[in-house]
Amino acid sequence: MKDKNVILLGPPASGKGTQARQLAGYLGVPCLGTGKLLRDEIERETAVGLEAKGYIEGGSYVPDAVILAMVESWLGENVDGWLMDGFPRTIPQAEALQESAIPPSRVIVLDVPRGDLELRITRRRECTGCGVTFAVDHLDEVICPDCKTPTLVSRADDALDSFKVRYENYEELTVPLFDYYEGLGMLDRVDGTQSPDEVFAEILKLVGG
Ligand SMILES: [Zn+2]
Repeated sequence: MKDKNVILLGPPASGKGTQARQLAGYLGVPCLGTGKLLRDEIERETAVGLEAKGYIEGGSYVPDAVILAMVESWLGENVDGWLMDGFPRTIPQAEALQESAIPPSRVIVLDVPRGDLELRITRRRECTGCGVTFAVDHLDEVICPDCKTPTLVSRADDALDSFKVRYENYEELTVPLFDYYEGLGMLDRVDGTQSPDEVFAEILKLVGG
């Protein structure tokens, strides 16, 4: 039987978002990303959205209670199974989810060492001509493989700064969840340094696909 309530966790730049979209399609379940959920609530100007907006504009994190209120209402609309991409982010969120009517059945962590993640970000290029983004093999590459013009730029400095903050956040808040879920016998790890297809194949084996 396929797992229907799956949580996918992993550090920033681990390829988690891509895997989550693919897996949600395969399982035929909706995918919850709290970033998108927040943006939707703010856009619709719901009570919880307006509350969240206040925190974001004040430059602080949206508190667990606000996030949980959003997630619970989302869960209520998606009772036939779901995938969560990067949620829960903290132990209190995980504990609350465990108390919900449809708790997770499996938690999968994409393991990628920090050095590999930084290398991925360093290799990323964007073409200012045609807009394509991809990873270069040689760091001094300037010719776009798509439109063949010398218009490649790197945003690596900014990207590495923001990565550092997000990674440290992940280590501090999310990595403790691994022990929590391991204690519940629900945790599996996948080697995220493999190709996206290999990673997906391993995930499918875990969810019984
Ligand atoms: Zn181009």
